[in-house]
Amino acid sequence: MAIYDKDNLFAKILRGEIPCNKVYEDDYALAFHDINPQAPTHVLVIPKGEYVSWIDFSANAPADLMAGFIRAVGVAARELGLEKDGYRILANTGGDANQVVPHLHIHIFGGKNLGPMLAS
Ligand code: AMP
Repeated sequence: MAIYDKDNLFAKILRGEIPCNKVYEDDYALAFHDINPQAPTHVLVIPKGEYVSWIDFSANAPADLMAGFIRAVGVAARELGLEKDGYRILANTGGDANQVVPHLHIHIFGGKNLGPMLAS
């Protein structure tokens, strides 16, 4: 089972100790612009809870938080204006995926044709 580091970067953003460029927030999730965007639109959505990964979240989060987090990803994508032309959502998890911040986060990419799913 993953150990959650309460001092990870996104925990600090959730506590308001580090600022973010907020896109959307509700009781379950916070969405903000990635500081190093990889596409014209690049937003991160994080659940308001101490979860490292999708496995951790899906096993341990309460149902209202799971629903609220998934809803927030959709709301953020819509509010970013991505519905018409499309977008990509992605969650890096663990070492092989090069997850840098150990708090579950969904990346939303859009604003251009994003090419193949994975770079080689
Ligand atoms: P990952 O590699 O999936 O763990 O993604 C971590 C993401 O966090 C990267 O895309 C970073 O650019 C982004 N990031 C790092 N620091 C900040 C910050 N202070 N505000 C917003 N995004 C950040």
